[in-house]
Amino acid sequence: MAALYIETFGCQMNEADSQEIAQRASAAGYAIVTRPEDAQVVLLNTCTVRDNAERRAYGRMNHFRALKSADPSVRIVVMGCLAEQDRDRMAKLAPHVDAIYGTKELRALGDRLERWREDFGEDPDLEAIEQRALLEPMGGTADGVIDAFSHLRAFVNVQRGCSYYCTFCIVPHVRGRFDHRPAAEIRAEVAEKIAAGAREVMLVGQTVNAWRDPVDGADFLALVRSVAALPGLERLSFISPHPKDFTEATIAGFAEVGALNPRVHLPMQSASDPVLRRMNRKYTRAQFDERVAWIARYLPNWAITTDIIVGFPGESDVDFESTLAYVRSGVFANAYSFIYSIRRGTPAANWEQVSRETAHERFERLIEAQNDASTAYHARKIGRIERCLVVGPSKKDPNRLTAKALDNVTVNAPMPPDYDAALYAREPWLDIEIVDAHVWGNSGSIRARAVRFPDRGSPVALPVLSLL
Ligand code: SF4
Repeated sequence: MAALYIETFGCQMNEADSQEIAQRASAAGYAIVTRPEDAQVVLLNTCTVRDNAERRAYGRMNHFRALKSADPSVRIVVMGCLAEQDRDRMAKLAPHVDAIYGTKELRALGDRLERWREDFGEDPDLEAIEQRALLEPMGGTADGVIDAFSHLRAFVNVQRGCSYYCTFCIVPHVRGRFDHRPAAEIRAEVAEKIAAGAREVMLVGQTVNAWRDPVDGADFLALVRSVAALPGLERLSFISPHPKDFTEATIAGFAEVGALNPRVHLPMQSASDPVLRRMNRKYTRAQFDERVAWIARYLPNWAITTDIIVGFPGESDVDFESTLAYVRSGVFANAYSFIYSIRRGTPAANWEQVSRETAHERFERLIEAQNDASTAYHARKIGRIERCLVVGPSKKDPNRLTAKALDNVTVNAPMPPDYDAALYAREPWLDIEIVDAHVWGNSGSIRARAVRFPDRGSPVALPVLSLL
């Protein structure tokens, strides 16, 4: 049987695209596998938002060259933002790649996979599989690999592109300007995902709360309300909003949507007005503070996470210190912080850069401050029992099971004695008693398991080690 392996880098838009391709490929008769060595088609969904993501993608492409040498019938495909931006260079640097698809060519990629399906036949080519089995295991270094649990958290794109042109960002250049999907189409896809077993649906867009229905102009809150009302929906979340597009009414409205998960990602980038201006972020520090205050007033139990760029061109010590002080105040449960990385074709690439030493030194201080804040946030959970959605065996320790709490905090627990991937995919809600706090999340002990979010959980036996 034909098998497809998908490795995804980057944001949830890419996760959504990978899920869509996986769905089309399954319908065309492919099995989705979790090891590249087992696949006839290896698909890399790439990101170009930072230099590091680009290098990792080229590294993986090179890595997959061995698959092709062992079995020339294997097809290597690259899709996503880097494919869109770097098509010609990629064809030269990685000639073993069979096909390259940009962000707007998802349908064409699905068609190609369908056509290829016939080439692989029904019976496995045992000789080719033996050749590939001789290779070193290739592991996965991506942000996501489609596996038995991926359908539980479904990503649904509500818009493509972005029209905001932050001066550091490549997205509008590779994905184009805003293109919003009609609400009816979004709801139909959400209903499909629920029918396919999704327990949490995440509405994704580069600037998700700027969404407007192209049919009647309805706003993002209206979309959230209407999706939350769909029969069978258990949990709803969204990413990534832009601070500029939040109004007090939107945030107050969220408080009345019970299905929403208690978390909001509010990308601050910097707490300094001169930097925000140069970034073209379209909000001031005072406006950002106002949004945080609205969240505290209407959504007091929600976790706020953020993105921060350190060492943006022209960032002075004073600018950085104000960002550091903000992080130290403990507002954020988590922060995705990065050293500014030059993106070809964006305005900030041509500006005078902060030295690498200064940027690194600032970055270290910022990380330390956020680590303290994150650990303190996680420590407040100790003693609680949290309902979490299973993610699968821990990537670092197969003796532990990983899950996500409603606020998206990672929770690891000793592997339960009755663990079976199919069973836990069917009964994916875990009640976990939180016993310890770390920088990365919490560890705990699984007490019960449930099929649906509102269900009462049935007890799960403790692993022998926990009983000692
Ligand atoms: S809002 Fe800014 S950072 Fe976000 S996608 Fe648009 S241009 Fe990029």
